[in-house]
Order: sequence, then structure tokens, then C-alpha cells
Amino acid sequence: MDCIFCQIVAGELPAERLYEDDDTLAFPDLRPRAPHHLLVIPKRHVDSLASTNDDDWAVVAACLHTVQRVARDRGLDTAGYRVVSNIGSDGGQTVNHLHWHVLGGRLMTWPPG
Ligand code: AMP
Ligand code: ZN
Repeated sequence: MDCIFCQIVAGELPAERLYEDDDTLAFPDLRPRAPHHLLVIPKRHVDSLASTNDDDWAVVAACLHTVQRVARDRGLDTAGYRVVSNIGSDGGQTVNHLHWHVLGGRLMTWPPG
């Protein structure tokens, strides 16, 4: 298995498991870009939102539920936060396992770079 996020799911690579359930896992980004920077992933490997199939939508919804939960747990609801899923080379995706960045704790600029 050469996918690093699958290795994190399997416990073969270290990560602080901030939240997990049967379908999803949240852990801190190794290179945080904001005071709060978490990643939320499906435990089952999916390359990106561009390659989801009909069987994956329930797990996508579960991931967004986990995004809401971990952001709320960190008190980000009031000030707000940003959720990003980079897709493919133009999207800036570097790990080809579907994930959502949850960024908060500072003012986010727009448009993104
Ligand atoms: P992306 O560039 O959107 O594909 O996001 C991949 C993210 O994974 C980057 O922000 C990396 O810092 C992060 N990352 C890579 N390896 C690890 C790891 N072992 N543990 C936690 N985060 C990681
Ligand atoms: Zn994977």
C-alpha cells in the first residue's frame, strides 16, 4: 500500500487521531497553514472528488459531518473557518486520497493562490 493516508488509517504511519468513526478519520496536517489545520478523510481509499462513484456519496456526506464536528469541537463556529478539497494537478492535490482541509483561527484571504 503506497498511499500515505491509507497507511495512517491502518496505523502504519503516526498521526494524532482527533476523531474517527467507522467511515472517517480526522488528524492534524503535518505542515499547518493556519492555527487550526486538520484533515478529514474517508477510511476507504478514494482518489479525489473527481473519481467518486455512486457508492462513495454516503462516505462523502460522512466526511462533511466529521468536518462540521471537528470544527465545532475546536470552537471555530463563531469566527468561521474554511474547508478545501484540492483535486488533481491544477487543484494542487499532492496526496491522492480524498481529503478535506479544515482551516481556521485566522482570517482567510480570497481568492486562494
Ligand atoms: P493536498 O496538497 O491538498 O493534497 O494536501 C495534502 C496535505 O497532506 C498537505 O497539506 C500535507 O501537509 C499533508 N500531509 C502529508 N503527509 C502527511 C502526514 N503524514 N500526516 C499529516 N499530514 C500530512
Ligand atoms: Zn489511500
